[in-house]
Amino acid sequence: MQKLLGNLNKGVFFIMSAPAGAGKTTLIRMLTKEFDNVIESVSFTTREPRKDEIEGVDYFFISKEEFEKKIKKDDLLEYAKVFDHYYGTSKSFVTNKLNEKKHVVLVIDTQGAMKLKGKIESTYIFISPPTLDTLRERMRIRADISEDEIEKRLKWAKEEMKQIVNYDYNITNIDLQTSYEVLKSIFIAEEHKVKNLKYWE
Ligand code: 5GP
Repeated sequence: MQKLLGNLNKGVFFIMSAPAGAGKTTLIRMLTKEFDNVIESVSFTTREPRKDEIEGVDYFFISKEEFEKKIKKDDLLEYAKVFDHYYGTSKSFVTNKLNEKKHVVLVIDTQGAMKLKGKIESTYIFISPPTLDTLRERMRIRADISEDEIEKRLKWAKEEMKQIVNYDYNITNIDLQTSYEVLKSIFIAEEHKVKNLKYWE
């Protein structure tokens, strides 16, 4: 039976970026809940797992030595060192899941996303807040961060938003339900692109 999503022999790779507080986590959760053939990419990291984090769900937790071996073996689509710890996107995880007909969503900052340009065929989606003031308010509601930290993050958000021109789609998240409908439509449209039909062969 034809489905709304999941008719291809190979999944589509999506790269999503958004400033913290724009609502990307909620939107992706809605999508993976509705469609079991949409999954999030699981990265490798050398940092310690936090309480409640699950191996293979939140990250694959590996040692620095193992990570460096993966760099040498070219098993990472991209990687970065953040606060002394390595983080990287697994090439084999992504390609295996795409071959299993899953649409894979990689959530990554704009710098990481730009490193992937030209390396792997993907659809780039940016989620924006309606205004920076809304973002400030959303950060305040989340609490436990100081006003100084909020201003620092807003400055970073402004920098990230300059990169929107390098994305295929932008969703301005004014209303969650509407944004979700738009996101879903993008996934459906991308799956139906003629270039992706080659996987039917
Ligand atoms: P956390 O330790 O809080 O889970 O993540 C720290 C930072 O690492 C976040 O900014 C997160 O987006 C980034 N990060 C997580 N996975 C990857 C990855 O695979 N590649 C890159 N470049 N950054 C990542």
